[in-house]
Amino acid sequence: MKRRIFALLMAVFVVFALTACSASEATAEPAATEMEAIYTAGVYPVTAKGNGGDIEIEVTFSETEMTDIQIVSHHETDGLSDKAFDQVPAAILEAQSTEVDSASGASISSEAIKKAVGQAIAAARGIEIAAEVVDGVYTGSAEGKGGLMTVEVTILDGLISDVEVVESHETIGFDRSFEIVRNAMLETNSTDVDTVASATMASGAMIRATVAALEEAGFADQFATANGAVSIADLPNEQTADVIIIGAGGAGINAAIEAMAAGAEVIMLEKAPVPGGNTKLADGVLNASETTYQEQENVVDSNDLFFDDVMAGGDYVNNPDLVRTYVENSADAYQYLKDVIGVEWYRLSRAGGCSEDRAHWVKGEGAQMFETLFNYATNLGITVDYNTKAVEIMKNEAGVVVGVKAIRDGKEVLYHANRAVILATGGFGRNQELLEEFDPNFVAGALSTNSVMSTGDGINLAREAGANLVGMTYIQKHPTCDVVTGELISSANSGRGLGTTILVNKEGERYVEELERRDVISIATGKQTGGISYSFFDQKAADETGFIDTFGEELNHLEKAGQMVKADSIDEACAFFGIDIENFKRTIERYNEFARNGEDLDFQRRSGLREYSLTEGPFYIIQSAPAIHHTMGGVEINTNTQVIDTDGIIIPHFFAAGEVTGGIHGSNRIGGDAMTDITVFGRLAGQNAAIAE
Ligand code: ADP
Repeated sequence: MKRRIFALLMAVFVVFALTACSASEATAEPAATEMEAIYTAGVYPVTAKGNGGDIEIEVTFSETEMTDIQIVSHHETDGLSDKAFDQVPAAILEAQSTEVDSASGASISSEAIKKAVGQAIAAARGIEIAAEVVDGVYTGSAEGKGGLMTVEVTILDGLISDVEVVESHETIGFDRSFEIVRNAMLETNSTDVDTVASATMASGAMIRATVAALEEAGFADQFATANGAVSIADLPNEQTADVIIIGAGGAGINAAIEAMAAGAEVIMLEKAPVPGGNTKLADGVLNASETTYQEQENVVDSNDLFFDDVMAGGDYVNNPDLVRTYVENSADAYQYLKDVIGVEWYRLSRAGGCSEDRAHWVKGEGAQMFETLFNYATNLGITVDYNTKAVEIMKNEAGVVVGVKAIRDGKEVLYHANRAVILATGGFGRNQELLEEFDPNFVAGALSTNSVMSTGDGINLAREAGANLVGMTYIQKHPTCDVVTGELISSANSGRGLGTTILVNKEGERYVEELERRDVISIATGKQTGGISYSFFDQKAADETGFIDTFGEELNHLEKAGQMVKADSIDEACAFFGIDIENFKRTIERYNEFARNGEDLDFQRRSGLREYSLTEGPFYIIQSAPAIHHTMGGVEINTNTQVIDTDGIIIPHFFAAGEVTGGIHGSNRIGGDAMTDITVFGRLAGQNAAIAE
């Protein structure tokens, strides 16, 4: 065991035990009610080393805060020290932390006071500071999803006082988890903190990098287990607003912005510690017809054509009224995101199942789009109560929805809605019970692209409130996902639409049209050896379609994870995944002939036919498999996003939008239609809820 020196702290404890001001006396103070107890209440005498000798200080704590700092005696002769005595204790009390400025001209006395008070804080929190812990700033790194992450850990008075991520290549939005991890580390004075749900890779890398920094410093063990109390945000147990929105994902944030713009007071409930849901994992492609972007690119499209594609893509089991509302508002959704919210666009292409180029690409993918929306909402003053899970839609005797019951930190909390409740909780791709309830073919353990938060809570909440559910058996698998994690592989997905990639199986043969619907490709892939598909492209295709610029980080990550090979010869690339080399070369030669003649005689590829080199590398192959991606079914709504009950009647003051709803996409959602869905119907929900009477 490592030797621990607690000399100073033991002295603290001894004096503390001997003084009349005992813990029992201290507990006579009113007990903490709402806030968690952090300290053992009492007076803690500590000694600081000043210029002229010891400075005796007494620091008083209640269970929840530091309440007093008294300079009992000192030998400082310099009058300047008075400034430190006057200013520093007051600043520490105000900040409830020793991270305060020193008094100018009295830095030695100031620092001494801060250090001593820090030791009192540690003692009051029951934290033992080991001898090997040396104050300083330590640097450590760990591999994140996007590359190496580096943190700087500040140890002050033997405690973790700051953890700052100084280098990160994680996707925008996921960095929100850094603040949560930092606070948890400071509060527990340890690296024994949870990853942040919905941002596990980014937060996990931060924790590992912090451990690495402390390991390098030689005292990681001292911070390996929690040794402080975590305080829970002190939110009221009961609140009222005009509109209560459940779920801070894409549909929810669009609804919030519109409701606030209409003058409504809005509170959002989010069960995760960070916003963004599944939306921040999306590719960031929005289908829209008759847009200014299309006009600029000379694409001749129409709302009618878009309508036909969505209906055909959904096998005509879609609700045509919803689809009509959807396509008619799509151009406005694009323009609004561009002009009002500030979303930037950079490319137009065609998604599988579409007969025109109407896939509008967002710079920075879904994560950036969500971030831009969220920042906009933040500027409007949006309130989001995190870690708050809705568990019941409350109705009055007349059947009118009046609020939401939720659980936070194990306690029930109530949200009353003056006007309406909007359900925007996303899909159920991560809820095994619901998947099996509606399609017994979905056995446990299936891969899923979805956020761990996509557990279909809203389906059950709405069903219990009497809502009708539609299309619940339509569960979409995305064809090109990580074979280990199920994560969507954006490059493999978009490569088909951009005309960069072709799809082959292990036998080296094409087996489906690359621009087919997702469900068709997924089913076809499921029938291939190992249920795996391989996306092939060469350097020329990559260069011509800007593929590396767009997906460079992901491709690096895939290569490191062994999910992609980049090789100088076709033989080497095929051998990496055990693909039949000779067959594969024949496939490419045949495909090249189709490209030269402008017609794919095998699978009638609608666009993106190109010739591939057999000799000019590098050559790339990405392996992927289908994973559950989108649940088309859900709560029935009308074109005003009002929720409909099982008798076909509107449930008053209850709205829903986004993946929690059903009927828009029929049996199958086309790639790029979810972004349009959350924008069009999210906005409508916000507008209508704000004026509900
Ligand atoms: P959509 O694309 O339809 O907007 P998202 O998945 O992006 O759906 O967002 C849904 C959000 O709802 C997620 O952030 C998720 O954590 C949140 N959520 C799901 N269930 C609940 C619940 N019971 N209470 C509060 N928030 C929830």
